[in-house]
Amino acid sequence: MFKVLHTCGGARVGKLKTKHGTIETPVFLPVATKSSVKTLDSRDLEYLNIRAIISNAFLLYLKPGVDVIEKAGGIHKFMGFPHVIFTDSGGFQIIREGFVVKIRRDGIIFRSPFDNSKHFLTPESILEIQEKLGSDVAMVLDYCPEYTLDRNIIKKATELTTEWARKSLEHRNEINFKGLLFGIVQGGVFRDLREKSVKDLVDLNFDGYAIGGLSIGEPKDEMLDIVSFTSELLPEDKPRYFMGLGSPVELLECIERGVDIFDSAFPTRNARHGTAYTYKGKINLNKGRYKKDFSPIDDSCKCYVCKNHSRAYIHHLLKVKEYSAMRLITIHNLFFLNDLLEKCKYYIKKGEFEEFKQNFIKNYQSQRPKE
Ligand SMILES: [Zn+2]
Repeated sequence: MFKVLHTCGGARVGKLKTKHGTIETPVFLPVATKSSVKTLDSRDLEYLNIRAIISNAFLLYLKPGVDVIEKAGGIHKFMGFPHVIFTDSGGFQIIREGFVVKIRRDGIIFRSPFDNSKHFLTPESILEIQEKLGSDVAMVLDYCPEYTLDRNIIKKATELTTEWARKSLEHRNEINFKGLLFGIVQGGVFRDLREKSVKDLVDLNFDGYAIGGLSIGEPKDEMLDIVSFTSELLPEDKPRYFMGLGSPVELLECIERGVDIFDSAFPTRNARHGTAYTYKGKINLNKGRYKKDFSPIDDSCKCYVCKNHSRAYIHHLLKVKEYSAMRLITIHNLFFLNDLLEKCKYYIKKGEFEEFKQNFIKNYQSQRPKE
């Protein structure tokens, strides 16, 4: 199911086999929360050579409803994307975005953000939803509290996450769930809790492991330390997934620490606000200095936006609030990240990843003081 093909230090190139094809790792999954990568359609995703995305089971359960997607023949047919679809349980959004009414031992009671109706999700029911959607890789329901140094809160949340993970795995056999199922490691910044979480989840034997509860406000050094620590405890022959990380520099730092899969709404959200990635750092195309800048977003980028349009044109589209501005920058940002990951794979295979990473970061941060 997962095979590591090359390593360079901690970084690795691997292959993950799913029921909708095999993907190469490291991979970045664009976020299609409500079954659409915002501003793009499936033809754009095809152009971008995107072979895996992540959607959100909890939001699709609320709208349009699982029955609608089931009737359409599953989420792949519904959204016209024939490749790999990961689904997040949605536990993270329910808790973070304030929809929770109560967290019980057996599940989460919450209110719908659409119509305020009351719902109850359990580890079992969220897996059934993901099966009906036709998910290729499903995430268990987990409990990730706000960033805190209160050990007791994190300890309780980690224990509950493990209990829910056990229930998910048992239920997987009962309903004959056909996708892969990933457990989620919690434990905050407490090493002993991380260690216990990993041990308990690895004993349960999931198809892959997400490193959860990070990139939620902890200092960056702490985050990287915990990633290294957790990654080293996880089995080598299973994929490791950092949920919610999408800044180019952090991607490379975490690839170096053995992470294989990433997702984040930031590259596409940033794009909608005018921020584009370049090999010389992020640029904000709203700024006046781009008004007469007729160069492409990135000189070295081969995406059709960079081949056909200038910074000045996109700056103008942003200023007059044309939707196409958001779309063009989204296309560029996703192309950029894919290109970056292709380069990572190339240099891991060559055994020169560390050097590549350092050069990339040096160039990427060279423009930072100006923005
Ligand atoms: Zn481009």
